[in-house]
Amino acid sequence: MSDVIAIGQDGFYHPLNEQQIIAIIQEARARGQQVRVRGSGHSVAAAVYTSNFQKGMARSSGFNLMLDQMRAVTFHEETATEDSMLVTAEAGCNLGQDPHDPSATSTWANSLFAQINDKGWAFPDTGGIIHQTVAGFISTGSAGGSLTDSVGDAIHAIRFIDGTGQVRYASRETNPELFRAAGVSLGLLGIITAVTFRCVRRFAIQGTEVTTSVQDCAIDLFGPGGNGKPSLQQFLEQTEYARLLWWPQQGVEKMVVWQGKRIPYDPNMKVEPYVEIGRRFDNDPLLTLLTQVLGQAAGSAFYTLVGTWPQWVHALMGNREIRLAFQDFCKKEVGKSTRLLQHLFDRPTLLAHAITHVPEVAEHSSDNGTPGGPLSVTLPADPSKLLELVGSLLAWLGKLYDEGEKLFGNELDKLLGELSEAFICWIIDKFVQDGTQTFQDYWYATLPMDNQISDVRMPTEFTELWVPLSRTQEVMQVLRKHYEEGGMAATGTYSCEIYSAKQSEYWLSPSYGEPVVRIDIFWFAYNLKDPSLSYYPQFWKLLAPYDFRPHWAKYLPDADSATGVGYLRALYPKWQEFMQLREQMDPGQLFVTDYWRWHLDIAEAVPKKAVTTSAA
Ligand SMILES: Cc1cc2nc3c(=O)[nH]c(=O)nc-3n(C[C@H](O)[C@H](O)[C@H](O)COP(=O)(O)OP(=O)(O)OC[C@H]3O[C@@H](n4cnc5c(N)ncnc54)[C@H](O)[C@@H]3O)c2cc1C
Repeated sequence: MSDVIAIGQDGFYHPLNEQQIIAIIQEARARGQQVRVRGSGHSVAAAVYTSNFQKGMARSSGFNLMLDQMRAVTFHEETATEDSMLVTAEAGCNLGQDPHDPSATSTWANSLFAQINDKGWAFPDTGGIIHQTVAGFISTGSAGGSLTDSVGDAIHAIRFIDGTGQVRYASRETNPELFRAAGVSLGLLGIITAVTFRCVRRFAIQGTEVTTSVQDCAIDLFGPGGNGKPSLQQFLEQTEYARLLWWPQQGVEKMVVWQGKRIPYDPNMKVEPYVEIGRRFDNDPLLTLLTQVLGQAAGSAFYTLVGTWPQWVHALMGNREIRLAFQDFCKKEVGKSTRLLQHLFDRPTLLAHAITHVPEVAEHSSDNGTPGGPLSVTLPADPSKLLELVGSLLAWLGKLYDEGEKLFGNELDKLLGELSEAFICWIIDKFVQDGTQTFQDYWYATLPMDNQISDVRMPTEFTELWVPLSRTQEVMQVLRKHYEEGGMAATGTYSCEIYSAKQSEYWLSPSYGEPVVRIDIFWFAYNLKDPSLSYYPQFWKLLAPYDFRPHWAKYLPDADSATGVGYLRALYPKWQEFMQLREQMDPGQLFVTDYWRWHLDIAEAVPKKAVTTSAA
């Protein structure tokens, strides 16, 4: 153990270099323990850590590493040509900044994208967020929404330490088979220490986001295309970068179509940033930010209340003490201490601008969006009055609830449930406003269109099913039918993301061998239920006939289900080759956790018999 660095107070090992990683691997081999690496932790936890890992207890459950001390970036300018620029990033380098990096070492300045952009270079594509580390992103086959460009294609070489402690290097020229296995390896071949990417010249993106009813969408979403509308498959094929968000709830039925194309990089370009939630005020970035923060806070509050329904109603309404305490809190404390609220009330025009994106207020407002314009909403002078009002309303609702429960018992829950569904759809409909947003910004700021969504306020979980592109129309039709017939149990309260991925050469990429359309079903992470039991199985069953390969970083079907390991194995032509290389790279199964053993059906390693050289 002497050569192994000390474990950090956070329960992780933070090696400085390959030598320290090799020492950890040797020690893990000697002890027969697992080794895993955490990137930025955006995948489902079980896909990342050692089995039974709990924060702060890494020592007792194997070796969990964080490569925050290995984030150096090296440019290979000597070999750079007009269309090929190589850069090597150490594995722990984040693509952009990770705002929730537990080591607090990730900054925009030390991110890969900031550094290559300064050099005049770019990635040809990015995912919807850029918090990930270099190694974490590629290990699960993550990709942006494009059929013409991909991060996978941009990988030039991968360097890793295998399970015997040996340094491995693979590229298309050197060890091409190993390269195609290492391109998407789920952390099962070894610990990636560096990745070399082939960059392109930096560029900007010009695009639009158009929100319409599903009916009025400019794409023939469920048909073969015609009458001036492309089919969805054609749209994805013809559009450089695209992403659709489908809000399928009955009465909402909207489609948000984001699309972008490359334009030349111009340092003097007028930047018109894309704003996903909130409203853009071109002359007032602070106000834009405020609408974003308030929009996400409102979204978060809404989804938290919906996702924890009806528990909070019982807790709040059914429990007299909690109710009274809350009223008291509203009356006495909040009014005094909510500085932000007071600040807003002190600057009523700011608040008025911030809420003009709420349609009812906007409709009745004569405010033209210019700061200092007339204010059409009447705000109480003292915020504590508003909170008192909330407290009184709550008291009244509480009494109503008490009476209702006496009269109707369990029926009340049912009634509230039905009312809440109608209310939820009404709110979503107001939240997802028809309209068009145009934007123009640099590649690193626009391609990751979800980067501004907070992981804390709007934490989202997913199951994402990659289906051969040629089956797009069938899949859209079957999904529409399912949503129409299944009501809220099928649509959920969130949206479904639809995008594409380019064909990949990596054996375990879900787009190996052919381009795909991706059906990414969102789940608000603060919901009480477990989506892998309560929500996702219906989609795994529904899309089973369409040969889906699930995104490895997101929820996977149970291994022993009809879409489990048997189903997947048949869909990956190079499955066996990957498993053979895995065994060769990691004979002691240091990187195999219970999770991956189950999902990939990896048999226990057979202990090698001791070789005895007996004397004659
Ligand atoms: C909000 C959100 C948005 C997302 N958007 C997209 C998107 O647009 N497109 C898309 O395809 N995916 C998307 N994802 C999924 C995301 O890209 C993956 O979860 C990705 O793997 C996360 O990278 P990470 O750095 O967080 O790695 P982690 O999640 O920490 O790790 C991922 C895997 O890589 C392994 N690993 C990490 N570092 C190493 C290393 N050095 N050596 C060996 N193995 C290693 C881990 O053990 C784990 O198995 C999104 C996820 C979230 C939460």
